[in-house]
Amino acid sequence: MQRLTDIGVIKDIMERYGFRFSKGLGQNFLINPSVCPKIAEMGNARKDFGIIEIGTGFGVLTAELAQRAGKVVAVEIDNRLMPVLNETLSGYDNVKIIYDDILKVDLDRIIREEFEGLSVAVCANLPYYLTSPIIMRLLELRLPIKSITVMVQKEAAKRLCASLGTRDAGAITVAINYFADAKMLFSVSRGSFMPMPKVDSCVIRLDIKDKTPKGVKDEDFFFKTVKAAFTQRRKTLANSVSSSMGLPKDMVSDIIRDSGIDVSVRPEQMSMDDFIRFSNLLISSGICTLPENSCF
Ligand code: SAM
Repeated sequence: MQRLTDIGVIKDIMERYGFRFSKGLGQNFLINPSVCPKIAEMGNARKDFGIIEIGTGFGVLTAELAQRAGKVVAVEIDNRLMPVLNETLSGYDNVKIIYDDILKVDLDRIIREEFEGLSVAVCANLPYYLTSPIIMRLLELRLPIKSITVMVQKEAAKRLCASLGTRDAGAITVAINYFADAKMLFSVSRGSFMPMPKVDSCVIRLDIKDKTPKGVKDEDFFFKTVKAAFTQRRKTLANSVSSSMGLPKDMVSDIIRDSGIDVSVRPEQMSMDDFIRFSNLLISSGICTLPENSCF
């Protein structure tokens, strides 16, 4: 088996296949041999699990996952990697690669067709330009998965794992807290990648909750409210929501007060319960259905 973290092996593959890294696809491949085994072990890669991997690169993490999991299905957008992966993963009969965009594939179908009888988890060294869209998609689809273990940029990890009510919290923090329990696992220095990125990274795990919070009247509207609240994150909730939803500020302020929240609150100071009460009242107040407004 080739050591895919070995720079000599990587250069040899690049030369033989005429492969060049694509910056646009976020191709920073792992060359630190201690990282992939840790992601696999902490990411639920076990015989009773099927793993969805996002972005194989040359297959360095894929191989570690395949050695431990029942099955691995990896989605990779760059089909220039096809001949490389045919070589580097040829020793594994429990790996399937789908050459497609992770934001477009039918993940529900993949899980139904490929992982019968297995629990399912996601593991990846994410292409950083798509961190939020990928995580949001995985959560909003309400897939039957147990966990999402991903490498992301350190700054993104802080926001993704922030507690609500703190300065690092953003709209995605609320979404993550709604669907999962987030945990920082370990840091990875920029020198662990080829080519070397400008920033350090962090591996995080999201353990999907069995139940989402109670009492949300309309889930779509709840997430619209959260996004509107954080559109101007350093402004007050009243200012941000009224300007991004096109609602009269005095009416929004009344609804904030009626929700039992201080009218000068900033979105980053709010708890999950605050967001739920506010979005429920916003919808039941009827102001969003006035023809001149743009809540929906
Ligand atoms: N897993 C490899 C590793 O750790 O060395 C590669 C990780 S690299 C940071 C990200 C990978 O995601 C690249 O192989 C890239 O081609 C792939 N990728 C980028 N955009 C993608 C998309 N929309 N769908 C699927 N894969 C994507």
